[in-house]
Amino acid sequence: MKVKVIPVLEDNYMYLVIEEHTREAVAVDVAVPKRLLEIVGREGVSLTTVLTTHHHWDHARGNVELARLWPGLAVLGADERICALTRRLTHGEELRFGAIHVRCLLTPGHTSGHMSYFLWEDECPDPPALFSGDALSVAGCGPRLEGTAQQMYRSLAKTLGILPPETKVFCGHEHTLANLEFAQKVEPCNDHVRAKLSWAKRGVRAQVHRQGDPGRGPGGTLQRASELRARGRTAAATGPGSPGTAVGAPEHPPTEVSPVWTRRGARWHIPPPPTLRQSGPCPGGCPALETSTLVLPGSGRVGLLSGPV
Ligand SMILES: [Zn+2]
Repeated sequence: MKVKVIPVLEDNYMYLVIEEHTREAVAVDVAVPKRLLEIVGREGVSLTTVLTTHHHWDHARGNVELARLWPGLAVLGADERICALTRRLTHGEELRFGAIHVRCLLTPGHTSGHMSYFLWEDECPDPPALFSGDALSVAGCGPRLEGTAQQMYRSLAKTLGILPPETKVFCGHEHTLANLEFAQKVEPCNDHVRAKLSWAKRGVRAQVHRQGDPGRGPGGTLQRASELRARGRTAAATGPGSPGTAVGAPEHPPTEVSPVWTRRGARWHIPPPPTLRQSGPCPGGCPALETSTLVLPGSGRVGLLSGPV
């Protein structure tokens, strides 16, 4: 799996993911379609699909023109407000592009229909990749415009926070410096923030964006996952970075009801989403709540969820 990072607009990232055996390509968040098609042509790949994280103009505005220029294109996303959408995805759904698997992870908060995409490749030692749109960026996240704080917490901590620590994150914006400067104001004694800010100020991230600016350079940063892994190791000395950075181990371990992601040989074993098996009145007698038994496939573990059903 090859990921091409394409900086566009003021600070957005657009991506082209290439399946290297079949030469099929999948684009993520098409804001500038002609720029994307230049790179598709240069790479000699067959573009079949667009994955859109959410409906905002800087992530989806190119869909209509791209669909016109590239007939037969599938435009996928979770929100029916996404331009030119051909099929609406659901949480936990899995897509396949040659050897590349895509698990669709609904991550509401920034918008109510925000979908993140977790990609990995069979029999490949390269780390998996997360395309997180505006749900997660380096040292920050997109503003909560729709949904509740609880939904946003769940998206970040329960859905994205339990992904394998070596996952490389490809986010929607280059906001690293601004996020870290804000973090330092909030937590001036945080050594991790200080070290990461120092790393960011050395221009590692800014260079990536400048390299691909159509007005300033040849455009795009071609990255193999193995190169990204090396980059991640470099960044690990001072903390994570993006795009293509490791998420890092979650600060809080997965709770008893979290799905389990495990590696077996060269394959990721990812259980299907948990299912609610039964529900009943809250054992504490709370009239407004019911409890549900959450069954985790393959894990043999069961947890109790309380909340309005
Ligand atoms: Zn947005």
